[in-house]
Amino acid sequence: MDNVFYRNIKKEYTEVDRGEGIYLYDTDGNRYIDACSGAAVSNLGHAHPKVLKAMADQAEKVAFSHLSRWTSAPIKELANLVAGLTPGSLNKLYLVSGGSEATEAALKMARQYFLERDGKSGKYKVISRWKSYHGNTIGALSMTGDKRRKKYAPLLLDFPHIAPAYCYRCPFGRNPDTCGVDCAYDLERALKMEGSDTVAAFIAEPVGGAACGAIVPHKDYFRIVRQICDHYDILVIDDEVMTGFGRTGAMFAMEDWDVVPDLICAAKGMSAGYSPLGGVIAKDEIYNAFKQGSGAFVHGHTYGGNPLSAAVAVAVVRTLVEQNLAANSRNVGEYLLTQLRERLLPFWFVGDVRGKGLMQGVELVKSKATKEPFPVYLGIAEKITVTLMKHGIIVYPGSGNADGENGDQFLLAPPLIITKDQADELIEAMVSGFADFE
Ligand code: PLP
Repeated sequence: MDNVFYRNIKKEYTEVDRGEGIYLYDTDGNRYIDACSGAAVSNLGHAHPKVLKAMADQAEKVAFSHLSRWTSAPIKELANLVAGLTPGSLNKLYLVSGGSEATEAALKMARQYFLERDGKSGKYKVISRWKSYHGNTIGALSMTGDKRRKKYAPLLLDFPHIAPAYCYRCPFGRNPDTCGVDCAYDLERALKMEGSDTVAAFIAEPVGGAACGAIVPHKDYFRIVRQICDHYDILVIDDEVMTGFGRTGAMFAMEDWDVVPDLICAAKGMSAGYSPLGGVIAKDEIYNAFKQGSGAFVHGHTYGGNPLSAAVAVAVVRTLVEQNLAANSRNVGEYLLTQLRERLLPFWFVGDVRGKGLMQGVELVKSKATKEPFPVYLGIAEKITVTLMKHGIIVYPGSGNADGENGDQFLLAPPLIITKDQADELIEAMVSGFADFE
């Protein structure tokens, strides 16, 4: 018995003792493959010596200074590093402490941009998609499209949600041969209904994560979205909180579709779990509108951009680049996906195995033929997670939404340092866990 107010008060939690590389150890000495990097966070694995050293060095100098008064060498270095990795004129980094703070800040930044640029005060709504996750705070949850909204619905902003780019369960009843990328054009429908003069931005995860288990859109999806947004004067907010910094095999997932967004939200992989950090990366045009306008973004969080987290992020990002871990994510990810499809799809309850780089999802169904999901009350995703843990693997579960519409799935997102041999170890453990579950 302890006094921690846990997320799930009825659940028993295993106590973590230590981590090393892709492995976590509990206090009884059991070893687990951290096959989801927490929640796609620990991209460099655990106890990385370069990051630990950078952390200790910075803590000795100064751990905290407030952004209202101070700048610091680590935040300047981080902003320069990030600007060198982003496409187009995405050069300006606004620092916060996590992913929800990043999407929340992007929402306000998009709204203020139109005020600063030409006083368009009517443009404030952000359109997002169902089966999306953009965070837990009220603005972020308003943009989110999944079951996490349900209990807090009366508190949320009334923002429109469009159809997801969910090919396994196409909302338009299409298949790969008949696909017309209707899910992208659904944005135009929503813009016409809402009136584009009321809309500031469209936000999307390039590869859907926490709400849907690694759904990858059609290759033309974001190109069409970009065209529609340009036509109606809407910003594209690219929520790369989970996908950013190498997770899907590119530094930022959107690169693979040759689309340049207006704002990028980042967090998780930027400091890889060693210290909380998040950020919004803005195009020069947006930054300049603020600079030439009021000169201030009236928004801030106490821990945003603290020197300790920034020094950690500098070490993390440098290591990512030096070790070419995005390429490792692409290569080992392709291998893992091929193997998982071959080995898991034969199980009667596995409907789909999908993903990009080292961000992969497994969707569990009651019937392969009809794709009927398991009833929500069974909590299948959580149950399989518990079985896999007994086989030494940690995955990130996502279960059906309250209407039973979503389906059970879980996410695999091992640290980007994983080797092919370790991927084999993961596959064998997964297969024996699935056989046990059957
Ligand atoms: N956006 C996306 C795409 C995410 O995956 C998450 C977290 O899973 C968030 C935002 C929220 O980030 P945080 O949990 O750091 O607040």
